[in-house]
Amino acid sequence: MRIPIIAGNWKMHKTIDEAVQFVREIKDKVQGTDVEVVICAPFTLLLPLKEAAAGTNIKLGAQNMHWENQGAFTGEISPLMLKDIGIDYCIIGHSERRQYFGETDETVNKKIHSALNHGIKPIFCVGETLEERESGKTEEIVKNQIQKGLVNVTDEDVTKIVIAYEPVWAIGTGRTATPEQANEVIYQIRETIKELYGEGIYTEIRIQYGGSVKGSNAEEIMNQEDIDGALVGGASLLPDEFVQIVNF
Ligand code: PGA
Repeated sequence: MRIPIIAGNWKMHKTIDEAVQFVREIKDKVQGTDVEVVICAPFTLLLPLKEAAAGTNIKLGAQNMHWENQGAFTGEISPLMLKDIGIDYCIIGHSERRQYFGETDETVNKKIHSALNHGIKPIFCVGETLEERESGKTEEIVKNQIQKGLVNVTDEDVTKIVIAYEPVWAIGTGRTATPEQANEVIYQIRETIKELYGEGIYTEIRIQYGGSVKGSNAEEIMNQEDIDGALVGGASLLPDEFVQIVNF
């Protein structure tokens, strides 16, 4: 039985007051749900959020990290620092980081290893661009991202990873993949995991869909057989929308 995971990706949004207010508004409404609830927030919000979310079922994640523990890396945050705050998850390889900040399959792989070594669970993002989809390359692109991101990740560790399939053309565009389109690629990702890790593990690993998920479409997406939750951007900034998604 895979427990679905709904993770909000706040991207570069919210002040401390807004973040704390958000948790106050949603905490009772997401209590007692069967899904795991995570908020992936900017670094400045993680500590205040940790305090605001104490005693609730809301877990916290970062949106990026460096793979080194410390050193001369101006502007970066290390897994040790994240562990110090006590966060559970870290988004790794989001398409915005691949597109604007030079993230590659190799850096994604280093970060996945580093996160796992520190007991931080990666939310490992993969997905094709519109051009890649239209030229029939979706399966090949996503498979390649999965294989390269998971180089040398052990059987034991891989089940701690949450994979997020996020077609780039569906992120922040209001253009959601149909539930069937999303499920098809997620099914293929599961097949790739089976090729890499064999029976057993491929049924255990959780794979989310991300890209314009909102309250009104969450249920039909989550009802797909292979989809184990969602990584939610824009709609996760609005308390009512986020609660509706969590309680799909
Ligand atoms: P969106 O973003 O829900 O705003 O499309 C999803 C994401 O980038 O994780």
